[in-house]
Amino acid sequence: MIYLKTEDEIELMRAANLLVAQTLAEVGKAVKPGVTTAQLNHLADEFIRDHGAVPTFKGFPNPYGGPFPGSICTSVNEVVVHGVPSEKTILRDGDIISVDCGTLLNGFNGDSCYTFMVGEVSEEVQHLLRTTKEALYKGIEAAVAGLRIGDISYAVQTHCEAQGYGVVREFVGHGIGREMHEDPQVPNYGRRGQGKQIKNGLCIAIEPMITMGTYEVYMDPDKWTIRTRDGKPAAHFEHTIAIHHGKADILSSFEDIERMEATRA
Ligand code: MG
Ligand code: MG
Repeated sequence: MIYLKTEDEIELMRAANLLVAQTLAEVGKAVKPGVTTAQLNHLADEFIRDHGAVPTFKGFPNPYGGPFPGSICTSVNEVVVHGVPSEKTILRDGDIISVDCGTLLNGFNGDSCYTFMVGEVSEEVQHLLRTTKEALYKGIEAAVAGLRIGDISYAVQTHCEAQGYGVVREFVGHGIGREMHEDPQVPNYGRRGQGKQIKNGLCIAIEPMITMGTYEVYMDPDKWTIRTRDGKPAAHFEHTIAIHHGKADILSSFEDIERMEATRA
């Protein structure tokens, strides 16, 4: 069942997503060699609660095991998604870290992810990050009223596969609203003209999870951490969007992060 949102609901979604954007920017400022993912988690948790929201990921149920222990997902290098923040995971120069964040504010959810570079990252890995972010925007461009979910999927997949990268199959984007995960699913692979039709009021998270090698993944014994089968790095960028006046209105934002990255470069 797809819940199309009203104008008022889209504005509530925007507020939740802008808080996610601010949280990711705060976390991004703290990303540097020597920092633990537990420290990043603590910072995010406090920031979200100080702004009157709840970190949705904390305690998120797991069909395979216990609830998610962190308030953000911190996925380093070959970890694709759902990395669990830990005092044992210390960032090193040359790492990448995908920080996925969700907030619940005034009854609506925000969800966005950004892959940060730690210190100096190889050109090869930077290219993976650039391509994944570009694929996200290609998907967003295809999110037009009258087209179908498969048009988004196709745009993401073809952009990444053209560079020889893997498109993860097991995890997909999703509808979002009062629930973190609503219908429809938004895969990062698929065919043009297939799937549910895109309509005004549709709110979805588009989130390419792209690997440098094989797209095959496996789960750690912790029942959360998802790694690439070949140990090669993976990138993950995510925006929540609403279809508004026929086209995509991006509710989350990378603006603060990108401004910060530009001053670091
Ligand atoms: Mg997310
Ligand atoms: Mg998501």
